[in-house]
Amino acid sequence: PTGLESARTLAQAVIDAIGQPIHLGSQVVTIGATVGIAVAPEHGLEVDILHRHADLALYRAKAAGRNSFKVYTAGMDEALENRNKLEFDMHLAHRKEEFRLHYQPVVGMADGQVRAFEALMRWPHPTRGMVSPAEFIPIAEETGLIIPIGEWVLREACREAATWPGEIKVAVNLSPVQFRQQGLVPTVVSALVNARLDPRRLELEITESVLLADSDANLAVLHQLRDLGLRIAMDDFGTGYSSLSYLRTFPFDKIKIDQSFVRELGVNRHCAAIVRAVAGLGADLGITTVAEGVETTEQRDHLRLEGCDEMQGYLFSRPLPVTALRKLIAETEQAAQAA
Ligand code: C2E
Ligand code: CA
Ligand code: CA
Repeated sequence: PTGLESARTLAQAVIDAIGQPIHLGSQVVTIGATVGIAVAPEHGLEVDILHRHADLALYRAKAAGRNSFKVYTAGMDEALENRNKLEFDMHLAHRKEEFRLHYQPVVGMADGQVRAFEALMRWPHPTRGMVSPAEFIPIAEETGLIIPIGEWVLREACREAATWPGEIKVAVNLSPVQFRQQGLVPTVVSALVNARLDPRRLELEITESVLLADSDANLAVLHQLRDLGLRIAMDDFGTGYSSLSYLRTFPFDKIKIDQSFVRELGVNRHCAAIVRAVAGLGADLGITTVAEGVETTEQRDHLRLEGCDEMQGYLFSRPLPVTALRKLIAETEQAAQAA
C-alpha cells in the first residue's frame, strides 16, 4: 500500500480503538479521536510543513464532526488563511468603525406605505470591496466578535430610527450567539435609552435557531425583551426544522416568510400553498406576516391576494445607504403634507 493508504488505515484503526467504550466501575465512558493526515512527499518535504498541513487537515476533520479523519488538500491553506485574514480585518474594522448600516423599507401591502426599515450590515473593505454579511457574519459568530459588533448595530440603528417620523419602526437582526452572552437585555435597554427611542418602534428579528439551542434560557430572554414593549419577529420562516412548533413556544409579533418561497411563487405550486397557509395562520393568530424578497409585480399581486400584510424586496427598494434613506423619508413626509 502507498503511504497515504496506510495512513488512512492507521487513522481509522486509531479512531476505532480509542472510541471503544471504557468501563469505569458502574459507569461507561467513551472518548474519541480526530485525525489529520499529511504525507511526504505529496504534501511537503519538511517536517514543519508536513506538521502544519496535518494540523490544517485536523482542523477540517474537527469541523466535520468528531471521530473522523481528513487528508490535507491544497485548498485548505488558502481557505484558512483567507478566513484568518478576514477575522483580523474584522477586528480592525470594528475598532475603526468601518461597518455601515443600510436600511431596506418594509411596506404595507394595502397602501404601499413604509412601515419599517430593516438595518442590514455592510462592510466596505479597503481592498476586497463590499464584503457581504453572508460571508462575514458566520466568522463573527464563530469568533464571538458578533457580540460587540451586534451591540454597535443596535445602538446605531436605534439612534438613526429616533430621527424618523414617529410611526416608522426599525428592525434589527440578532444572532443566536448574542443570546449566549448575559448582557443582551441590558444592551438593548441601553441602546433604546441612549437613543431616546420608544421601545414600540424597535423590532428584533431572530431565526428559529435561537429557540433550538438552550431554548429555556433563550426563551426567558425573549420574554424579557418583549416585556420592554418591543416586537419580536421570526425571520426566514419555513426554512428551519420546525418553524410551526415555535409559533406555539413564543408569542411572535411578526412572521417573515422566507424569500425562497416568494421566489418560486409563480413556478412551484407548493410554494403558493405554503404562502397561503402561513398568511392564513398569521391572520388567525393575530401575527403580522411579511413576504421577503419580492422582486416582481406578479409576486406582489399574488401575495396581496393571499393576504400577506407587508412586503420587502427589490421591487419597492433595495437596502439604502443612510443618505438615500433620509431622502426617501423627507420625500414621503412632503408627499404626506401635500395630501
Ligand atoms: P436577512 O435578515 O434574511 O436579510 C434579507 C436579505 O435579503 C438581505 O441580504 C437583503 O439585502 C436581501 N434582499 C432584500 N430584498 C431582496 C430581493 O428582492 N431579492 C433578493 N435576492 N434579495 C433581497 P444581505 O443584506 O446580504 O444580508 C444577508 C443576511 O446577513 C441577512 O439575511 C441576515 O441574516 C444577516 N445580517 C445582515 N445584517 C446583520 C446584522 O446586523 N446582524 C446579524 N446578526 N445578521 C445580519
Ligand atoms: Ca432579517
Ligand atoms: Ca430573512
